Amino acid sequence: MIDRKTIDQVYQATDIVDVVSDFVSLRKAGVNYKGLCPFHDEKTPSFVVSPGRGTCHCFGCGKGGTAINFLMELNNMTYPEAIRWLARKYGIEVIETGFDDKANAERKHREELLALNQWANEWFQQTLEDTPEGQGIGLSYLRSRNFRDDIIRKFQLGYCPASGYGLGDAARKNHISEDNLVETGLCIRANNGKLRDRFFGRVIFPVHNYLGKVVAFGGRILQKKDNVGKYLNSPESPIYYKSNELYGIYFAKQAIQRQDCCYLVEGYTDVISMHQCGIENVVASSGTALTHDQIRLIKKFTTNLTVLYDGDSAGIKASMRGIDMLLEHGLNIKVLLLPDGDDPDSFARKHTAEEYVDYINQHQVDFIRFKTDLLLQDAGNDVRARASVINNIADSIARIDDTITRSLYITECATLTGAREQDIIETVNSTRNRMKLNKLKTENKDTSQASQASQASVASQPSQPSQASETSQSRAAAELMKYVIRYGERTIGDAEDENGNTRPLTFVEYVSETMNNDELSFTQPLYTAIIQELLANKDKPNFTALNFLLTHPDDEIRNYALSQATDNGSTIGVNDDSILDHLYETAEKLIADLALAVVSDKITELDHKIKSGTLTPEDIIESTITLSRYKEAQIQLKRRR
Ligand SMILES: [Zn+2]
Repeated sequence: MIDRKTIDQVYQATDIVDVVSDFVSLRKAGVNYKGLCPFHDEKTPSFVVSPGRGTCHCFGCGKGGTAINFLMELNNMTYPEAIRWLARKYGIEVIETGFDDKANAERKHREELLALNQWANEWFQQTLEDTPEGQGIGLSYLRSRNFRDDIIRKFQLGYCPASGYGLGDAARKNHISEDNLVETGLCIRANNGKLRDRFFGRVIFPVHNYLGKVVAFGGRILQKKDNVGKYLNSPESPIYYKSNELYGIYFAKQAIQRQDCCYLVEGYTDVISMHQCGIENVVASSGTALTHDQIRLIKKFTTNLTVLYDGDSAGIKASMRGIDMLLEHGLNIKVLLLPDGDDPDSFARKHTAEEYVDYINQHQVDFIRFKTDLLLQDAGNDVRARASVINNIADSIARIDDTITRSLYITECATLTGAREQDIIETVNSTRNRMKLNKLKTENKDTSQASQASQASVASQPSQPSQASETSQSRAAAELMKYVIRYGERTIGDAEDENGNTRPLTFVEYVSETMNNDELSFTQPLYTAIIQELLANKDKPNFTALNFLLTHPDDEIRNYALSQATDNGSTIGVNDDSILDHLYETAEKLIADLALAVVSDKITELDHKIKSGTLTPEDIIESTITLSRYKEAQIQLKRRR
């Protein structure tokens, strides 16, 4: 835990304008400062920083707060991370309490290694730009690959001289510890005890973590040699765990957040070329299969991921398993195959950002669909092969935790394969049960005192809070659905499109659009299905939601509509003028109620978690902060009602 005194010092030193300026370019507007909001896409500045109050606020999307809130929100930092970031910025020493001396010493050591990497990073860049060898070999190589100077500088590319002693010698002059040079992997100790530069004769690509610290380097060889790898990377060290990092995340995170989408490519140059072409929401896994930690890193910023593949990539099938893992994390995954002979790098060189994004949007395919198509092609008409395809796809679908998404995929899989939906549902369910069981088994293996009794309690515990929390949400959702079923087709106002043309807006459209904007979704797949059916058929002649649903071929939909059509068996209230006059307000209120119910459920759940006594102190701080945010949202929602 960070010492109270440190926190006080940080608060005192922090200047909101100074902090925001690190991320947003601000200009003075009266007593305040104004800039383009980093949380949403906008062309005219509505992000206002008030030095007097020490806060910032966006009048477009409502985000902002203190400098700490700003950092936490923008960079998805935890509270302690934000404090540490500010402490570093203002040169305040962070005193940790509750850690023993050993942990403190380790933390200090990591800071030293990071400082060394930063020094080396600057040295590599200077060597590239200011020495004859750097310019003649390194820089001319990068320019021959058509990297612009501003991009070379942005990614802080550098050069390590071919002599093999340039960096080591410079480090000695700066009294840098040899042990640290070896530990970060910048130098290698030769048999005679002398240090030799690891990356000699290579162009240097520094790897930044998501907070912008240089944690490792990649070095690319300039001439092809048969027995030498094209790229050489830093070894793992106390500051570099390969499986935690994604190349480019620091330069991409704002664009990922703004566009709510992340492109995944393979190599350093893919990322850099795409930036040069104007696409910034892109990261690279550096050739290795994605890890859980890397996925968690992406999820800090978005849940939408598109994987970009070379058109002729042979490795697609091999990487499928890795993508299945993405599904477990609740990511929406799309796959894009570039045209034959192109990779993300070469495609960026031939196209503008707009063309590139258009191409992606037009050709990206949902992962499950992509996988199904690919496997079905291979299976041909062989019955047994097709059956195994269905099992394979069911296995992917089973990893998806969200009920609605899962059921949508099941339907799609049935359509694509021609299998019976019910069969796929059964396969998916049995796979899920097997996965749950396996998870329980490993969890119990981890806790050494696992007994039969505790196994039973592990199995029954998690469902209790979620079941209790569902009632409030489901009550609000059911009320909203009652109106959708009865009045779905009614016009309740005008909607404006991008060109400023107005069109009538129906009740069901309003509900669907507002819920999307508020990032609300039903936990009941049936409700989602009903809304989708209505949206798909609303333009048919003489369409009314109720008649359409009451005659729907799906038993569940038809029966549910029937149950909602009447109040206690009395006649259907579609001609009730008082309701019709206030449909817009009613829709607004019902959605606010749903949002409030969702938030209330979250509060109950978090409260439960904090009081459970199973959290670490840091997690408690984080949960408490999240809880206070939910409570703030709750107050605002209550006001909206
Ligand atoms: Zn905003």
